[in-house]
Amino acid sequence: MKYYSTNRQSPDMSFKEAVVKGLPQDKGLFFPEHVPALPAAFFEALPDMTLPEIAFEVLQPYTAPDITPEALKHICAEVFTFPIPLVKVEEDIYSLELFHGPTCAFKDVGARFMSRCLQAFAEPEKPVTVLVATSGDTGSAVANGFLGVENIEVVILYPEGGVSEIQEMQFTTLGQNIHAVAVAGTFDDCQHLVKQAFSDPVLTKEMQLSSANSINVARWLPQMVYYFHAWGQWRKHQPQAHADAVTFAVPSGNFGNLAAGVLARQMGLPVKFFIAATNLNKIVPAYLESGQYTPAPSVATIANAMDVGSPNNFPRIQETFGQAYEALTQVIKGYWTEDGPIKSTILEVQQNQGYLLDPHGAIGYMALKKELPDLKTAGIFLETAHPAKFKQTIDAILETDLPLPEQLQVFLHRKKQVSSIRNEFSELASLLQEQHRLHTAS
Ligand SMILES: *Cc1c(COP(=O)(O)O)cnc(C)c1O
Repeated sequence: MKYYSTNRQSPDMSFKEAVVKGLPQDKGLFFPEHVPALPAAFFEALPDMTLPEIAFEVLQPYTAPDITPEALKHICAEVFTFPIPLVKVEEDIYSLELFHGPTCAFKDVGARFMSRCLQAFAEPEKPVTVLVATSGDTGSAVANGFLGVENIEVVILYPEGGVSEIQEMQFTTLGQNIHAVAVAGTFDDCQHLVKQAFSDPVLTKEMQLSSANSINVARWLPQMVYYFHAWGQWRKHQPQAHADAVTFAVPSGNFGNLAAGVLARQMGLPVKFFIAATNLNKIVPAYLESGQYTPAPSVATIANAMDVGSPNNFPRIQETFGQAYEALTQVIKGYWTEDGPIKSTILEVQQNQGYLLDPHGAIGYMALKKELPDLKTAGIFLETAHPAKFKQTIDAILETDLPLPEQLQVFLHRKKQVSSIRNEFSELASLLQEQHRLHTAS
């Protein structure tokens, strides 16, 4: 597969080049030059296929010929080691639990897949520095996915004081090849610094920089896998339902997850609608309503992994619909809400359904509750993180003391190692150069 830039100013790249570079030079996003259609037989078999089997079939066209079928099988088996169950919450509403991986968030899927691809591509004499900005869960998923991978150094930028205590512990206490940098600024500032690094001629000449943000194709594409899996599971629950009578509600921040969903649909997955569900950072729902796309400074909410004012994957969604606004709005509906209703929904669903939502998944659930009567389909919302990742918030809402899952408990007593910088590109550049010197000297 070849990948072009959505800005169309940079040359086409192979999968390998797109993964290693992360971003095209023209600051667009890599996009596959064609979207293969999956055969009817695949969809018939889907309900009984395992996650690694689905992953192999879906991803093979995108990774060939740079990753051989044998290597891809191996990677898929290593990445999809945890279940992604579809759980019925109430009549016609299902939760796709994406939080059973090592860091309890959906980003485990993309981060694990990407780390294996980059490992397959890294050359011994050319170490790769993976540079990533996080609003919370990316940092832990990437750190976990890359920990101890030879020839790869990982630098994680995060807004100082802008992520939860547990999230911070997960990427600041690992050591080895994982370096955490607290930036005196917002997540958007962090993201901006990363973008600057990639377009900086001096830095990019001195070192091999790669991005592990959701803009990287190796993180974006594997997210399609669980949409196929979810649909297969839903068919098992509702074999009589019309095959395309399902809506996915996707709690969104940078819109990588939703961009993967619409690409899966483009490959033939029978989905009627998607709902772009956000917190107060409602850039995309506002665009769907008005046609005006207006990035804005991000606003802090209790669904903090979605506090994004300039969603960096959205151009991929537009590209999937051929840049046609009308076509896009026929498939994607918008929904947004505020902290107050999120809190009351978490409480109500816990009391009435006995199901515990996290603040992000709660927005997906709320979107379905509001829109399904009009859309007349069944609904699946993505439960993007384990509720205990937001323990303080949930404890306060439910007046409880939520136990941490085992995966998270181990971090609590480790020592943090963090560098702090101001929101200045020169400070990031010196830090990266210093780390590069240390690594190549050792
Ligand atoms: C990253 C994240 C999101 C947003 O996903 P995008 O792909 O950036 O839209 C939603 N919920 C949680 C818990 C996350 O960590």
